[in-house]
Amino acid sequence: MKDFILVINSGSSSLKFAVLAEQGQTVILEGLADRLGSKDASISFKFDQTKETQTLTLGSHQGALSSIKAWFDQHPEIAANLSGIGHRVVHGGETFNQSVLIDELVINAIEECASLAPLHNPANVKGIKACQSLFPDLVQVAVFDTAFHQTLDQVQYLYPIPMAFYRDQTIRKYGFHGTSYRYISQALGQVDAKSLQQGVIVAHLGNGASVCAIQNGLSLDTSMGLTPLDGLMMGTRSGSIDPMILGFMAKSEGKSLDECLSILNKESGLLGISELSNDCRTLEEAMKAGDERAKLALEMFCQRTAKHIASLATSLDSIEHLVFTGGIGENSVYVRQKICQSLGILGIQLDQAANANLVRGQTSDISKTDGNVSVWVIPTNEELMIALDTINLIQA
Ligand code: ADP
Repeated sequence: MKDFILVINSGSSSLKFAVLAEQGQTVILEGLADRLGSKDASISFKFDQTKETQTLTLGSHQGALSSIKAWFDQHPEIAANLSGIGHRVVHGGETFNQSVLIDELVINAIEECASLAPLHNPANVKGIKACQSLFPDLVQVAVFDTAFHQTLDQVQYLYPIPMAFYRDQTIRKYGFHGTSYRYISQALGQVDAKSLQQGVIVAHLGNGASVCAIQNGLSLDTSMGLTPLDGLMMGTRSGSIDPMILGFMAKSEGKSLDECLSILNKESGLLGISELSNDCRTLEEAMKAGDERAKLALEMFCQRTAKHIASLATSLDSIEHLVFTGGIGENSVYVRQKICQSLGILGIQLDQAANANLVRGQTSDISKTDGNVSVWVIPTNEELMIALDTINLIQA
């Protein structure tokens, strides 16, 4: 039976792709097209333990997908087993609360959500349309970052601004990283079945970072909002700040609104405070070498994450599990320790040795056995989730 799924994550200037087989359990091919839109665009393919990089003369999304199609033409044994394409789509607005088979109506609806995610949704649509022309025989599925959070109650998703902004422009909290949260909720259920009826907080900490409160497998609240700028301090994003700061930036520095928003999105967070890097690993090394500003940036990141976790706990009946995931959550012993240190008030107690000695890439319980809350590290796998949704929709 054909069961290979091509997973596409089409960003504004990059396109990640993978081919997953055996119900998503085996990665056959992985790759990245980078610097799209520039003359330095390139594409790499990791297959059979070798990596091959090519320059992309046509540095567009269509060009990247044409190279992928050419790769399949050279590997007919892989192409023959493809049964569908799963696309990560960032914003599904209020239209999509689950993954869907793509048709023209779905594409129109994704385009309509573009005002909510102007960098991401147009890139997602470019990827979808290019796949439609290059792989006309393959079923395509859209998997939305926002869909998992459509279970939020109005009390959580409305902003306390005039209701007309919600009624007329659907300005509300949507939340992101939903595919990762759905994966983590299910993966936790596999190691602890009771968790599916319990209160869980997941911290997805990567370059982009957010937290989510899950009860009975449903998202009840999350830290990102209308856009992925809200909530936690991140690599280059400020997260939540006093909105009046925008006015001060604009007035005192004579900057436009777009320039101010670009500062909050691209020059803030860990990078803005450390003035060194947005990368957690680089900052940890600098901190160990005595860099005070790297230390301050990391301490702020941890403190603000802990604060958001504590505030999310108010939406749960009780909290039984805290899960760390994402590049930082899965790998940084320091960040996990520092965040948990601030959360004793929720009954969270970390086992220092378990935290320091966990096996990378595996699910681990790093809490003290007598603590009230189980603390886990679970590697996320959004590609697997996208592949499984694609298989399920093809079969349905
Ligand atoms: P993205 O949001 O781009 O998907 P990732 O989930 O890949 O981000 O996470 C990237 C972050 O993970 C970077 O800040 C990187 O420094 C951090 N990271 C990766 N490995 C480690 C490590 N061993 N220790 C600390 N941080 C790490």
